[in-house]
Amino acid sequence: MKFLDITDTLFNGVQASSHIEFDHEKIFYCEDDISGLKSIIAIHSSKSGPAIGGCRFRQYQTYEEGLTDVLRLSRGMTEKNNAADIPFGGGKAIIFSDKPKSTELLVAFASFLNQLEGIYYSAEDMGISLEDIQLVGKHTPYVFDNVDPGSYTAKGIFYSIQAALKFYLQKDIKDSIISLQGAGSVGSELAKLLGDMGATIYVQDIDQVKLQQLSTENIHIVEDALTQECDLLSPCAVGGIFTESSIQNLGCKIIAGGANNQLLNPTIDSHLHKKGIRYIPDVLINSGGVIGLTKDILKRNDLQIEDDLKLIGKRALDSMSFAKANNMSVLEAIDGLLICLLYTS
Ligand code: NAD
Repeated sequence: MKFLDITDTLFNGVQASSHIEFDHEKIFYCEDDISGLKSIIAIHSSKSGPAIGGCRFRQYQTYEEGLTDVLRLSRGMTEKNNAADIPFGGGKAIIFSDKPKSTELLVAFASFLNQLEGIYYSAEDMGISLEDIQLVGKHTPYVFDNVDPGSYTAKGIFYSIQAALKFYLQKDIKDSIISLQGAGSVGSELAKLLGDMGATIYVQDIDQVKLQQLSTENIHIVEDALTQECDLLSPCAVGGIFTESSIQNLGCKIIAGGANNQLLNPTIDSHLHKKGIRYIPDVLINSGGVIGLTKDILKRNDLQIEDDLKLIGKRALDSMSFAKANNMSVLEAIDGLLICLLYTS
């Protein structure tokens, strides 16, 4: 197994510390010929405590694309953990999905975590399930495998959506139409919470099985969540979906979802604002997962956790009010607090 600190080394033609997205502490790379593991772990900040953040299993066209993703996502984790007010720093792991996910590959990832001796704790993210991370946890202490963070993330977004519908449209959830992209860990839980409150929901996913599992009387499957006419669009799949071209055909009045880094670039925020579409930035509302993951280590009980999740909605509402009072977008309103997280992944 090859384990490298690649922070200041030219590796695969790129030096991490010279990358435009780099303002990190350390970047590590691990490669294992037997299992096929190729993984990068980025430690953005450990100022508030050990870095925590999920592990993403994804196909990247190039090594540099993966590096860019992990640099942006790990910075986002620092901001998110700060926003959730938990004593942890920000980090992230990616695994290149060149080889299929296997027990051997996840065990090799556990060895990678062991090499870092607790400066980074991993959880799940796109492409990595709770079961996967529990398997990893059999071989390393450096994981959070106590809960599925998706349901906590969904709850924080739910409270934020409730606040946004009321604030911008004077609507209750039961009278609202919500379009969801992604029926995974976050999206499916969010659809259930909103559906239980009586919302009409349209959901899109590339995975037909997940869609069928979700479909009920008020949850309808659609081809394209972005163009669906609705009150609020909740992106809960991939990043980078809002581009100059895609925002021309949006069917929503508000955007509030869990997917990290939804804007292709920061200028999209002002385009959305000019079009009258209210965009609630992901970092402001998707920190519920880290609140759930750290509840045992921080000895928080269920009531305290529920209060913490409600606080996400309250902070979102405060940001919306501030933005409106100052005639700016919500992203501008939180700029300085939660900066530079809005690039595509
Ligand atoms: P997941 O892997 O469980 O689900 C993602 C879903 O998106 C899958 O069902 C997948 O089929 C679908 N999908 C992928 N590409 C799509 C596309 N082009 N169109 C429609 N659907 C597509 O992931 P998750 O844990 O639910 O996370 C979703 C997003 O939220 C990710 O961006 C993740 O980084 C972010 N996020 C997750 C958490 C968490 O607690 N899980 C916390 C914060 C942010």
